[in-house]
Formats: sequence, C-alpha cells, structure tokens
Amino acid sequence: MSRLQAEDPQIAGLVQDEARRQFEKIRLIASENYVSPAVLEATGSVLTNKYSEGYAGRRYYEGQQNVDPIELLAVERARDLFGAEHANVQPYSGSPANLAVYLAFLDPGDKVMGLSLPMGGHLTHGWSVSATGKWFTPVRYEVRADTGRIDMDQVRDLALKERPKLIWCGGTAVPRTIDFPAFAEIARETGAVLAADIAHIAGLVAGGAHPSPVGHAEVVTTTTHKTLRGPRGAMILSTAERAAAVDKAVFPGLQGGPHDHTTAAIAVALKEAAAPEFAAYAHRIVANARALAAALAERGYDLVSGGTDNHLVLIDLTSKGVAGKPAAQALDRAGVELNYNAVPFDPRKPFDPSGLRLGTAAITTRGLGEEQMPRIAAWIDAVVAGVAKEDRAVEARVAAEIRELLAGYPMPGWSAA
Ligand SMILES: *Cc1c(COP(=O)(O)O)cnc(C)c1O
Repeated sequence: MSRLQAEDPQIAGLVQDEARRQFEKIRLIASENYVSPAVLEATGSVLTNKYSEGYAGRRYYEGQQNVDPIELLAVERARDLFGAEHANVQPYSGSPANLAVYLAFLDPGDKVMGLSLPMGGHLTHGWSVSATGKWFTPVRYEVRADTGRIDMDQVRDLALKERPKLIWCGGTAVPRTIDFPAFAEIARETGAVLAADIAHIAGLVAGGAHPSPVGHAEVVTTTTHKTLRGPRGAMILSTAERAAAVDKAVFPGLQGGPHDHTTAAIAVALKEAAAPEFAAYAHRIVANARALAAALAERGYDLVSGGTDNHLVLIDLTSKGVAGKPAAQALDRAGVELNYNAVPFDPRKPFDPSGLRLGTAAITTRGLGEEQMPRIAAWIDAVVAGVAKEDRAVEARVAAEIRELLAGYPMPGWSAA
C-alpha cells in the first residue's frame, strides 16, 4: 500500500493497524471472515471506476465490453455452485437483497412472516425498527423454550392463521440446521412465497456442510462475505419463474449501478468456493464449532439449543452471573473478538443482553483446528471468570498467549513482516 501511504498516511496507518488487529485476535464474530488475496485484488481494482446500470446485454451506459462478461461469469458460477435456475449478483449487501424480495412479491402493508429478532432472526425479516417491519405487517415465529429450536408447529399454525404473502427462513443467530423442506411444505399449504436467507450459512451450503434450500425455497438471498468468504455483497438466487420479478426489483426497483469491482470479487470467491478444498474448509468450520461448543459446555456454559450444527455457537451467560456486554468487552481486550447477543426469551435489554455469539468461519480460514478449541474455550472462561471477579489482570495474559499462538497462522492478504 505504498501509494496510499504516500498520499494519505493517516488512512494508510489506520488500515495497517486494522490488519494487525485482525492478525493478532481470535476473530469469532460469526458473520466475519478473511478473504483471499485474489478477492482483495478484485475488490481493489479499476472496476470501481465503471457504471453499468442494467444487466449484461441490456445496459444504460456504453463501455460494457469487460463488465458484461464479468457479471455473466459471476451469475454462471453462482448458478452452478448452488444449482439454482437464476442468480442476481447485483444487490449491494444482504439487507438491500432482502428489501428487493419485498419489492418483488409484496405490496406495502402485506403480511410477512419471519423469525423474531431476539430469537435469532434478522432485522430485515420484519423487525419493528426495520423498514420491513414499518412498511409491511410482520408476523413472528419463535424458538421453543425447552429446545431452543425453531417451533415448526407454531410456524405452521401462524402461517395458516395469518396467511402471510412471504415467509422467511434463516437467521443471524441460529445454531441449528434450518429445515427447508418443512418450511417449503408450510409455504405450499398456505400459498406464501418462501424466501430462504442463507447469509450466514452460504459457505456451508456451498461446501455441502448444510442442506441446500435450492429446490425448496423459490427465492434464496445471501450475503457473499460471511462463511462464503467473498467481498461484501449479496446475491439472490431463484427459480426461473421468479427471475424476472427479482431482477426488476433489484434494478430499477431498488438500486442504481451495480458495484462492478464487487461483482468481479464475487465471481472470484465463487470460483474458490467451487474447489474441493472449499468443501473441506466448510466441514472444518462445523467441526471447529462443534469442538468449541463441547469445550464450552464442559466448562459449564449454557448453549442455546445445547450445541451447534453449523458455524455458530450462542452462549447464555445467565448462570455465570455475567452479562453479555461486559463479557464481550473484556474478551475483546483479551484478544477474543465476538459480539454480545440476545438469547431467546432474554430477560435483559437488547443493548445489554444475556448472551455471546461466536462463529468459527474466520479462525478456520486462519488454519486453527479442533485441537485448539479447548484452549480457546479456556481463554474465554478465564476472561469471563475475570469479569465476575472484577479481575482484569487475566486479560493481558490471555491477549499475549493469543498473539503467540496466532503468530504461527498466516493471515490471507497481509503479513506482519
Ligand atoms: C448479515 C445478514 C443480513 C444482512 O447483511 P448486510 O450485508 O449486513 O446488510 C441479512 N440476513 C441475515 C440472516 C444476515 O445474517
């Protein structure tokens, strides 16, 4: 980054500091990852200079000789990887992709059904503070108090009673396999469009480590930057029948020009995700999450649903006598980066909830394996115990041990030297 350094040392310095921070921390934020140097290069390319409103062969600006084949490659790779009939790779991010689904299939005020936010759903599935909850009429399903798993009986009863036009499945803090066939059956029975939001698990689906919604949900939305390990962006996959409505909603319905540098980087990430090593990566993510969950459970941590089937672990700290926010802040100081999170039926407030959310996508990219998970659980436990005892000395010790461990695991796209 010598040119950035020369032109804007302030920003260059902060970017360098961020790179080092990412290198030295155990990054357990479930929605984050480390992209490959190839994805970084595509993201930082001259494609950022181009405007290309419209779709390949149907653009509103000239000069698309290279952008058209780039977008066509991204679309073809997305369709191939997920076995989908149609793919739109233009949504700026996950939230706009989801908004495009509303625009494609609903009118303002129509009913939309989704998993409630404090139960693991996403804001854009009809939560009250989101445009999707203000402009549409939300119906919310929950998880069962006894199992921590989505209550499929409630989903069916609510859908039959409320007749939503759109049903979302998927979420942002769901540690268990989503039963796409069961959701599809309910959508068929009630005449709703089923949209699967696989933002978190897209990489697991691509790598065969989670069942695919394709063939069950007519519409599938996903970010490209979480377990899929691409640039910040999103895609909408759909049946051929829903393709025209989806495309029209993304452009001209919601967006202007697509971010062509992102499109190129999505194409690169999709190529990487189609390689056999990526399937192995996806399975390692799950193995690591299971090992981390088991090690935490052994140390007496309560896990929502008792464990995990995917990349994500949700801890309920209530029994430890510590709230989520102070625990997350202490862990960050100690070199373990994660987020405080509500747990189902959380008695505490959303800004200071009872839980912590962890994901293993990023540490698996770094090369950490199951054998390291008990050590990570021990570090988490030591810091959380420190919060309970108001002992902050443990934080510096853990941070130093983590720096020492991670020095042996290279970070894609950056080296400390
Ligand atoms: C992350 C996420 C989104 C939103 O993605 P952004 O790119 O942050 O807008 C949507 N749905 C789910 C389930 C997510 O986890």
